[in-house]
Amino acid sequence: MVQRRNTRQRTLVAEAVSALHTHPSANDVYAYVHERDPHVSLGTVYRNLNLLAEEGKILEVHTPGGSHYDFRTDDHDHVVCTHCGSVADAGVSRHRSIDDDVEVNTGYRVTGHFTVFEGVCPACQAKQAAQAS
Ligand SMILES: [Zn+2]
Ligand SMILES: [Zn+2]
Repeated sequence: MVQRRNTRQRTLVAEAVSALHTHPSANDVYAYVHERDPHVSLGTVYRNLNLLAEEGKILEVHTPGGSHYDFRTDDHDHVVCTHCGSVADAGVSRHRSIDDDVEVNTGYRVTGHFTVFEGVCPACQAKQAAQAS
């Protein structure tokens, strides 16, 4: 019974990440899950997000403001809004040659890297433009 409940909560968390194509934070996922099952705690959401990320079923995106989660699990970089914290896919390809340069410079065997771009999102730009006029 406990097992079945865990599986259901896990499915709900996975469903939230695949439904929210906005790189949700744990709180965003919690809001989605909570609407469908008020008994699920934020701790449960965190635990399941970590498990799903470990299993490679979702991608954990590290940003200066905390972790966000992505239904897209292929290797890709992100851009973060410094005003509202929204996260979007950067849409650029990775430069693997940088990994080689770092290996040469440091002697580390580099297994990968991720880049977070920072900027102001289109919605915040529009708000700023509206305030300025
Ligand atoms: Zn923004
Ligand atoms: Zn993404």
